[in-house]
Order: sequence, then structure tokens, then C-alpha cells
Amino acid sequence: MSEVCHFNSVFSNLSRVNKFQKRLIDWFDTEGKSYPWRETSDPYAILVSELMLQQTQIATVLRRGYFTRWIAKFPDWASLAEAEEPEVLKMWEGLGYYNRARNLQKTAGIIVDAFEGRFPETYEEVISLPGVGRYTAGAVLSFAFGKSIPIVDGNVIRVLSRIMAFHEPVNTPSSSATLWEWAERLTPRKNARAYNSGVMELGQTICRKSSPDCEACPVSQFCLANQRGESAVLPVKKATEKVTRLNENALILVRGEKILLAEESGSRRKGMWRLPELTSEESADFEECFRFDYAITRYKVNLRILTPNPASAGSRVAEPGEAWFDLRDSEKLPPMGSPYRKALSKYREIREELLFQAENEGDRKQKIG
Ligand code: SF4
Repeated sequence: MSEVCHFNSVFSNLSRVNKFQKRLIDWFDTEGKSYPWRETSDPYAILVSELMLQQTQIATVLRRGYFTRWIAKFPDWASLAEAEEPEVLKMWEGLGYYNRARNLQKTAGIIVDAFEGRFPETYEEVISLPGVGRYTAGAVLSFAFGKSIPIVDGNVIRVLSRIMAFHEPVNTPSSSATLWEWAERLTPRKNARAYNSGVMELGQTICRKSSPDCEACPVSQFCLANQRGESAVLPVKKATEKVTRLNENALILVRGEKILLAEESGSRRKGMWRLPELTSEESADFEECFRFDYAITRYKVNLRILTPNPASAGSRVAEPGEAWFDLRDSEKLPPMGSPYRKALSKYREIREELLFQAENEGDRKQKIG
């Protein structure tokens, strides 16, 4: 079936489209969740939230206070444009994909210099900003200015492909074009903010990946997948690349209260720091402290954390690109990726436990003595 037939089989006339939009907007007005970025129409705050939420769950952004801390530190375009890059990366620490933070800062510079501090309101201008794609442009323009511009993210893909009973793999360019076309035809001229928020929220809370709650769905009467009992098997996805396993060895070297860190290389990681990496041969001179897995893009990495043994403890010095930092205050450490921050916090726990045991042992000996 062509995409036009799919669409027409659900939305045979304009009145069906209007009813669908109204049901979704009414449902969102009563059931929509309140988030800090939904309580504002400031394009700056909305763009910050959209970039944060690209790779991170809403619950994580809220629970760990990423958004509120960012807005408190950089409340507007001017404060972000003037900030030092390490300060910006530090505030983004834990969210990953640090180019998003750099792009946000570049955008702030453009808004201040080229747009006199006012965010542009045309799609062409917004999409030309660094790191802003079709989804993000639509989100900011509809949420901040109520513009009738569609958005398509994972939630919208799920909802639309189920409503239209779309059996093509959704992760191909031609399916993507079809889904954008449908989203465009369904976005109302007025109230696009509530409509776009509503479709996304429906995908998050009711039309979930597994076990969609069709009985509670405000638009179930329009949904072909529901009528055909196909909700659980849609959308279909083409198999993606296999996960590749990698091993990584990293050193925790502490002298007094200082820790040795290495600056990352490559344009994507510029400005970030990490635990110094060891080759397999070098790691033979150190002792394994602990290990854990982390995932990045299509890689699953087994990170082995090594510490010096008595023989290697004094021989390692800072090499070019490495420096010593005060370990006591994590806020003063330079920006680091999540796996290395996780390793450091685990190391701190182990170190405190060992110090505690050593103190107890000292007390015991004193009492015996
Ligand atoms: S009826 Fe079910 S499958 Fe269809 S849109 Fe609603 S929740 Fe999703």
C-alpha cells in the first residue's frame, strides 16, 4: 500500500484529521505531564532541554538536575556565549555526546552576534544553527512560538506507524520521508505546541514500546494496528549493525591527594579528560583493581581499572598531555566522560573502605599493645 493510501485509509477526510487532533490536544491538556521546559516558551530553555533529551531519559535529566543546574548557571544566550568551554563541558558532564554542548555554545554566540540576542523564528534560520536538525528545529519553533511545524522522534514514529498499521521497516530513508509527510499532514495550524507535545507524550506513556495501553488511548478509534490486533508487533525495524566488543585498560594513579589524568584527543572529545590509557603490555606492570562494561554507540567496552603495585608505584611520571589534579573535590576535576567518573567514584569507595580498615587495625594493635 502506498503512503497516500495508508493515510487515506485512516484519515478519509479533513474532519477525521480535525477530530484526531482535537482528541490528542484535549487529552494532553488534561493528562500532559509538567516539566520545567514545558512551563516556559523561552526558546533558549527549550533548545537546552531538547539537546539534553536527545540521548538521555527525561527521568535522568530531572532526577540529576541537569536542566535546572544548567539554567541556573547559564540563564540566557549571553551568559552561555561568554562562558569558558571547560566550564560548559563540566556542566554537561554525565550527559555524553559533548559536541551537543559545544554546538549549544556556538549557537549562543550566533544568536548574540548575528541575531542581536533574539532567537530566529523561521525554519530556514533555525535549521542552519549548529547541531540543530529537522526534529530540533520543529520542536523549538512549535514549543516556543506555536509554529505549525511537524516533529518526528522515536515516540512519534511508534504512534504513527501503529495508527497507520505501517509494516515497512521504519529506520530507512524512504520510511522516514513517509513518516515526516504524515506528521506534516496531521500537525494543526493552531495549537501545534499542544499537539506535538501530545503525540510525544502518548508515545512515552501509553503507546509504549512494549505493552501499549490501547484501552486508555485517546486516539484508539483511529488506530488501524489496534483494530487489527497488531499493536505489539509494530513498528518494524531493519536489523542494525552488530555490537562490537572492545577491551580498555585505564590507570588510576594517586599520589597524596593528586590524581593523574590525560587530555582526550580528537575533535569530538576536545576539552575532555580521562584516566590514562595503558596498552596490554604496559598493564602487565600494574594490578587490576576492578572492571565493568560500558556501551558507546555500537561498541560494548570492558574497562579494566589498574592501580600501581609496589614495584611500579614510583616510576610513572606525567607524560605530554597528562596532568595532576586534586582528587578531593570532584567539582574541581576537569570534565570527564561517564565511564571514568564512575571508575573514580568506585575507586574512592574502595579507598575509603581500605583507610577505614587500616585505622581499625591500628586501633586494635594499640589496644593489644
Ligand atoms: S490504540 Fe494502542 S497502538 Fe494505537 S496509538 Fe493508541 S496506544 Fe498506540
